[in-house]
Amino acid sequence: MSLIRIGQGYDVHAFGEGDGLMLGGIKVPFNKGFVAHSDGDVLLHALTDALLGALALGDIGHWFPDTDEQWRGADSGQLLQAVYAEIKKRGYVLGNADMTILAQRPKLAPHIEPIRERISELLGCPTTAISVKASTTEKLGFVGREEGITALATVLLMQRESQA
Ligand code: MG
Repeated sequence: MSLIRIGQGYDVHAFGEGDGLMLGGIKVPFNKGFVAHSDGDVLLHALTDALLGALALGDIGHWFPDTDEQWRGADSGQLLQAVYAEIKKRGYVLGNADMTILAQRPKLAPHIEPIRERISELLGCPTTAISVKASTTEKLGFVGREEGITALATVLLMQRESQA
């Protein structure tokens, strides 16, 4: 395998009843929640998929099937950590991650820094390796109609030996 590997991830969750959104490992206050088998953390799901994708290890649904009762209401932070442990077991560490959240509402600007900090904490990496951006879709499409949220993630993995 090469010294560096790239991965991308994409996820969508629809809004439903609730009083907040799990997003990037923190609870963002909102007058809705996510419809999901797990906690619906669309950003951590995209990031987890990107990590898996970088080593061609399939996707989050393969590792944690939503048909499995074990993962009902699952903490996506734990799923992310379990996947990152697999990545490290295979000799790779995260170089950096760049993520974009598409949401018409809620306003995410005040939550970006806490999300970056939470993700670096979950992965045990510096916050400078974690980029999180947010954008609206100018009221277009399902995001614009405030039916849900989309997240995209790109990661770079480096082979551990190459770090020195
Ligand atoms: Mg998901």
